[in-house]
Amino acid sequence: SNGNGSSDSHVKVPQIKFTKLFINGEFVDSVSGKTFETIDPRNGEVIAEIAEGGKEDVDLAVKAAREAFDHGPWPRLPGSERRKIMMKFADLIDENTQELATLDAIDAGKLFYLCKIMDIPGAAETIRYYAGAADKIHGETLKMSTALQGYTLHEPIGVVGHIIPWNFPSQMFAMKVGPALAAGCTMVVKPAEQTPLSALYYAHLAKLAGIPDGVLNVVTGFGQTAGAAISSHMDIDMVSFTGSTEVGRLVMQAAATSNLKPVCLELGGKSPILIFDDADVDKVTELALQGTLFNKGEICVAGSRIFVQEGIYDKFLIKLKQKVKNWVVGDPFDPTSHQGPQVDKKQYDRILSYIEHGKKEGATLFHGGKPCDGKGYYIEPTIFTDVTDEMTIAKEEIFGPVMSVFKFKTVEEAIKRANATKYGLAAGVMTNNINIANTVARSIRAGAIWINCYFAFDRDSPYGGYKMSGFGRDMGMDGLKKYLAVKAVATPIYNSPW
Ligand code: NAD
Repeated sequence: SNGNGSSDSHVKVPQIKFTKLFINGEFVDSVSGKTFETIDPRNGEVIAEIAEGGKEDVDLAVKAAREAFDHGPWPRLPGSERRKIMMKFADLIDENTQELATLDAIDAGKLFYLCKIMDIPGAAETIRYYAGAADKIHGETLKMSTALQGYTLHEPIGVVGHIIPWNFPSQMFAMKVGPALAAGCTMVVKPAEQTPLSALYYAHLAKLAGIPDGVLNVVTGFGQTAGAAISSHMDIDMVSFTGSTEVGRLVMQAAATSNLKPVCLELGGKSPILIFDDADVDKVTELALQGTLFNKGEICVAGSRIFVQEGIYDKFLIKLKQKVKNWVVGDPFDPTSHQGPQVDKKQYDRILSYIEHGKKEGATLFHGGKPCDGKGYYIEPTIFTDVTDEMTIAKEEIFGPVMSVFKFKTVEEAIKRANATKYGLAAGVMTNNINIANTVARSIRAGAIWINCYFAFDRDSPYGGYKMSGFGRDMGMDGLKKYLAVKAVATPIYNSPW
């Protein structure tokens, strides 16, 4: 197992078609003419030079989006027309699955086969889900308490800024852009600097589908420049952000000190999985392993704190050892790999430094704990046991393939310790005792509770955080609401007995 970043990987870098900013329906160079390199994490080599958008480029993109919102057809089309165009967009995504999957796999080190069966078709389905909502957006008739006829209009909120991370480039793109398009908004998307490739490809497909120029603009570039220009822009009406808690705070500050635009923040996590004595040990070790290592641990809802009740603890560790031995780290294009390289050198170094913290602070290194040999940003799946609640690895989000195992005695203790975090994104509860499951589900302060499963994502299920994991929801019909402004309309009714 533990192969490594083979430099002679069988998939060569594909021809990259789109490397420029997409503004007002055209691919253009950045105003400054600057570019940045996007890197293949399998070997650290350059995939392509991408236009580096800055403040001036964001200004141009916002200008186009504003024009498209104030005077263009998109917000004014019947919802059924937006639906048709979005359905076409989704079909085009499906038709280009192979190429899009290659781009995400090579840019982010994600497993190619999963991109093909999950990320890309998932993005298309998300666009379809919201396309289906586009002609069902309406307000309410109000039963006013005075002599007034009242109703609400649910209007598109305006020009939206989307700032997205690199771990799920396609799904993030679709979950932000889909509902905003359905609502009738126009937008500027800034993909993460680590993974700009698929977003530009989606822009091309959106144009082919007939989304009018200016509605969907993509500005590639860095957070402190292009990202900050979006969050502080005076002419952007709302920002939807997914990323770290640290940057979420900056986005909210920038919104507050500019035009008070509302923000939706999907931030970090340190999600617990609670495993009770009666759980099926084979099933829960599999869930815990997947819950921690899926997508190389680069997932905000990673089950990075595994709490195991004392009666099942030893059995759990024996099973875990057996299973993790079969976990293959290797080239993301190799169908036998379970885990590819971390997205970039920065994340790789960060994860390795957390592993050092774990060792130094006295946790037992149960498995892994080293980088893999050879090129690329590959790290062994790593498991610490005897982790205590005060250790750095118990508190901070690692965003890598690192599991911390804790032992507990009672339900009350498990709930208390699971809640002892500044985050609140998700939690898993593994038990056949329905009373324990329900009690834990109500007691954990997190946006998603998964009972006898993990990563139970569904596009119909709203998704977001409690506490410092942020606020606002993506996905589901709740995910549409933030792109709508509610307007109340009233007219007097004279001489009405009502
Ligand atoms: P990050 O916050 O550094 O970057 C996210 C995005 O913000 C990128 O596009 C980046 O360019 C941009 N950005 C950076 N600085 C900015 C600034 N000053 N102003 C505006 N934009 C700026 O996060 P990351 O390290 O790329 O991603 C990992 C983090 O994202 C983790 O903490 C993870 O938990 C979180 N995440 C959360 C969710 C969720 O849904 N809650 C999903 C995925 C990732």
